[in-house]
Amino acid sequence: MSTRPMGHRSVSFADIYARRGYSAEMTSETHSQPTALPTPEQIRRAPKVLLHDHLDGGLRPGTVVDLARETGYDKLPETDPDKLGVWFREAADSGSLERYLETFAHTCAVMQTRDALVRVAAECAEDLAADGVVYAEVRYAPEQHLEAGLTLEEVVEAVNEGFRQGERRAKANGHRIRVGALLTAMRHAARALEIAELANRYRDSGVVGFDIAGAEAGFPPTRHLDAFEYLKRENNHFTIHAGEAFGLPSIWQALQWCGADRLGHGVRIIDDIEIAEDGSAELGRLASYVRDKRIPLEMCPTSNLQTAAAASYEEHPIGLLRKLHFRLTVNTDNRLMSGTSMSREFEHLVKAFGYSLDDMQWFTVNAMKSAFIPFDERLAMINDVIKPGYAELKAEWLFR
Ligand SMILES: [Zn+2]
Repeated sequence: MSTRPMGHRSVSFADIYARRGYSAEMTSETHSQPTALPTPEQIRRAPKVLLHDHLDGGLRPGTVVDLARETGYDKLPETDPDKLGVWFREAADSGSLERYLETFAHTCAVMQTRDALVRVAAECAEDLAADGVVYAEVRYAPEQHLEAGLTLEEVVEAVNEGFRQGERRAKANGHRIRVGALLTAMRHAARALEIAELANRYRDSGVVGFDIAGAEAGFPPTRHLDAFEYLKRENNHFTIHAGEAFGLPSIWQALQWCGADRLGHGVRIIDDIEIAEDGSAELGRLASYVRDKRIPLEMCPTSNLQTAAAASYEEHPIGLLRKLHFRLTVNTDNRLMSGTSMSREFEHLVKAFGYSLDDMQWFTVNAMKSAFIPFDERLAMINDVIKPGYAELKAEWLFR
């Protein structure tokens, strides 16, 4: 205790904060410890929401090895799980599209039976929950799992069963997670309407929306207009991979022709923003529309580095777009190929941009607002799970 209580009067708040290493102007913005960056341990414990994660891009390497052995698949480049994990990351890092696509050929090859799909989906939910993810929308293309004779419906039911098993196992281990499925149609194929109908049929049993993915160049989303128009007539939800490799025309089509609720990546929206010499930003018509309409952007930083959509974390457009208050979310895309997790994505962003727990909460609330489950459930997740989780973390410095 101080022996000079009156002395406090002469010390301004600015002085107090300066001594503690804080900046005074931060006090109006946050009640947490302003300049302390969240630790990796806090990042892991923080509630996180994931909207863009591919089921066939998130297998455990050991599971790929097990399933290959069980199903007689003999084309894996490595059979040691650690070496295989490294192989996946290096192939994705190589800059070669052929090698990148080869990674998915292997994971899809071992996901052709009901048991395999149940196991992969269950482990996905478990791994996300252990990483602090409380709500996830995980996507996959049912048409890529038919080689051993499963029907589209059997694929969807197997994955749903896996997610439910994973949620239960996570709960038994003291974690909480809810997982919804997004059904993806492949841009180069011609089954989008059929997959959209499938998504609609399962909308009350585990499937929360629809997506299209695959090579952007040469396969504009307007090729699948019938699928999007069908879903709009059914009052259903969809996101579109757009603005990753290909630029503004792809984003414009996804929004204005197809009516996407969210954009998968959307990172090239940066091409419609000009930064003046004084640092002010001027938004073009499309960028303005995206920001004004609060269109959620599913950013996947590490994945973007691997596909050369950004040069480094520090230069990733997420930094500027966050300052400009776009509706941004943080995502993993392919955890196996990128050697990542939600926590790792946030660790990179904290390091690159100095993001605080308040920033993490902002991204997380953005993601939850943009999810495809009903409004009352989203609101309850935000108010009863996400905000209390961050409040607890932000209060920790008081009790050191
Ligand atoms: Zn993706």
